[in-house]
Amino acid sequence: MARFGMVIDTRQCVGCMDCVVACQTENDVPQGYCRDWIVSELRGSFPTLSMEIRSERCNHCDNPPCVACCPTGASHVAEPGRVVLVTPEKCIGCKACIAACPYGARYVHPEGYVDKCSFCHHRTKDGVDPACVSVCPTRALHFGDLDDPRSAVSELLRTRRHRTLLPEAGTRPRIFYLG
Ligand code: SF4
Ligand code: SF4
Repeated sequence: MARFGMVIDTRQCVGCMDCVVACQTENDVPQGYCRDWIVSELRGSFPTLSMEIRSERCNHCDNPPCVACCPTGASHVAEPGRVVLVTPEKCIGCKACIAACPYGARYVHPEGYVDKCSFCHHRTKDGVDPACVSVCPTRALHFGDLDDPRSAVSELLRTRRHRTLLPEAGTRPRIFYLG
């Protein structure tokens, strides 16, 4: 069984926001909200400063506190890919999952349910890349099966230095950053 994840090359990302716009269009994200976003972080100290630009979204954690705390089962782990999804019809808008997520990955949709990145489940279940990955002009985003040793994401993780965000939170994120 697949375990979907993403590998993001921060050295390739130019912060163009194409991934954000593609996601909003693909997933009908209401204006003023987003399922993915760009973070710019200054590193080092003057005069040896560098800037890291990151495309961030739900990490589809292996140990997701948002699923454990959901009282209705709206937040759940789905196949293929063991992705973390929300069923809007089951969501009562209690926001327990928003409080539990250390990454700020969720928001309340104007219609009252909680929404977030689904790794474009409607595409990836048929073997098509998420919208953000497919539009990235610098190919900074890579999507695939982390459990398949022949996948491009596994190859990148084998050969390049990488890290996850907030590993100390114990959620075991499945988005890895290179560079
Ligand atoms: Fe849940 Fe947040 Fe992890 Fe996504 S990033 S699976 S919303 S804890
Ligand atoms: Fe579950 Fe919705 Fe409550 Fe989140 S807001 S914990 S998805 S019922």
